[in-house]
Amino acid sequence: MISLKQIASINLPTSWATFRLLGFEGIKFVGEKESTETALALIHGDISSTTAPLVRIHSQCMTGDVFHSLRCDCRDQLHHALQRIAEEGAGVLVYEHQEGRGIGLMEKLRAYELQEKGLDTIEANLRLGHSVDMRDYILATEILRFLDIRSLRMMTNNPDKINAVSAAGIEIVERVSVDIAGGPHSARYLATKREKLGHLLNLSDRSPGAESPVSR
Ligand SMILES: [Zn+2]
Repeated sequence: MISLKQIASINLPTSWATFRLLGFEGIKFVGEKESTETALALIHGDISSTTAPLVRIHSQCMTGDVFHSLRCDCRDQLHHALQRIAEEGAGVLVYEHQEGRGIGLMEKLRAYELQEKGLDTIEANLRLGHSVDMRDYILATEILRFLDIRSLRMMTNNPDKINAVSAAGIEIVERVSVDIAGGPHSARYLATKREKLGHLLNLSDRSPGAESPVSR
């Protein structure tokens, strides 16, 4: 169960387009325990003008999104999604603060340390006592419902996100893949996401080391 509150609504001009940025706070109740989570919704254009707007749920990755880390494909996916939404003229990006598949930034850095000793991203999380993926998408799907989105086209390679949106009663009329050309630093991470987390990546279709994002 979650109690959703809109905190603020501002204009956000970006290099892709101008978005309406809404800040949300969700208070979750699990039994007696209460926890607070925040997320942003970046809305471009008139999303009610189409029956199934383009939507991406993006999990924060400080190392990638802010510092342009090449260890993962997060920043490329984020920028690709904003670009696609700008090109379409309407869409939503939900940016939720679940760093490192939900383990938090410091734990993610510890997991990176273990990866430098030879573990893969999943083995590292397990070694630190976390589950493979701690994220849930309750706040993100609640925001989509708040925005009155009943059907959408979803930009994702992650089956867990697809399942979460469907489980919230929102119809996914199309999956728009976000295949990003990886480089040498992210090759093992992307392979692990595909092989162990079931991500729908077309790794064989990409040219090694290519930098430009490939849509679809
Ligand atoms: Zn990342």
